[in-house]
Amino acid sequence: MSNLQLRGVRKSFGSHEVIKGVDLDIESKQFVVFVGPSGCGKSTLLRMIAGLEAITAGDLEIGGQRMNDVDPSRRGIAMVFQSYALYPHMTVRENMGFALRFARVPKDQIAKQVDAAARILALEPLLDRYPKQLSGGQRQRVAIGRAIVRQPEVFLFDEPLSNLDAELRVHMRIEIARLHKELQTTIIYVTHDQVEAMTLADVIVVLRDGVIEQVGRPLDLYDDPANQFVAGFIGSPK
Ligand code: ADP
Ligand code: MG
Repeated sequence: MSNLQLRGVRKSFGSHEVIKGVDLDIESKQFVVFVGPSGCGKSTLLRMIAGLEAITAGDLEIGGQRMNDVDPSRRGIAMVFQSYALYPHMTVRENMGFALRFARVPKDQIAKQVDAAARILALEPLLDRYPKQLSGGQRQRVAIGRAIVRQPEVFLFDEPLSNLDAELRVHMRIEIARLHKELQTTIIYVTHDQVEAMTLADVIVVLRDGVIEQVGRPLDLYDDPANQFVAGFIGSPK
C-alpha cells in the first residue's frame, strides 16, 4: 500500500505557478530522494507535504486520508531543515524535547522519547551540552533528533547536509542511511548532491520547473534516463 500520494498537486504564488501538476505514489518505508535544479520547486513540494504551505490544487493523501487541510502537527510528519537553528539557551536535551513539551506530552514520556532518540544518534554523552559547545555534525544530529522524538511516520529532509563540509557530509550520509534502516519510516529527502541521491535513494524523483521528469530506482535512471536532462542530473554517460 502506498503511504503518501500526490494527485495533480499544484502551487501558485500569486500568478506564478511553481508546481505544475505533480502525481506521485510513495510506498511506506521507502527512501525517496527529490533532485532537480535550484528553483524547480523541491522545497515548495516538501513544505506542502508538511503543511507549511497551502496546496493550490490537487490532493495530498497520507495513509489513505486526505491531508490538504489537516494541521501540520497532526500529519505524522517531521521536517529537518537545511539551516537547523537550535535554541541557543537550551541544552541538547531541552532542544530535543521542546516540540513535545509544546504538545503537552507528559514529562516522563518526553524523557523516554528523548533518550531513545539520543541512543539512535549517539547523542547520549552530549545531552547536557549547549549548542555552542557542539560541532557542526553534532548540531545536525541534534536537529535530526528533534524530528525523531516526535516519532513521525514520514520524515522530510530539505538539503540537511548542504551546510556541512565534504568529509562530514559523507559521515552524515552513512548515519542517515543507518537511521532509515533502524527507524523503518518513510523518508523524503531533497538534495543537490548526485552521490547522495544515488547512494541513499530507493527511488529518485527528478524535478524540473515544477514537473516530474522521471521517477525510478537509481540504477534504472542511470542506465535508462528518460531524456538528456535526467541523464545530466544523474550523471549518466550519455
Ligand atoms: P527549490 O527548493 O527547488 O530550489 P523552491 O521550492 O524553493 O525551489 O522554489 C520554487 C519556486 O517558487 C522559485 O521560483 C521560488 O522563487 C518560488 N517561491 C518559493 N517560495 C515562494 C514564496 N513564499 N513566495 C513566492 N515565490 C516563492
Ligand atoms: Mg530548496
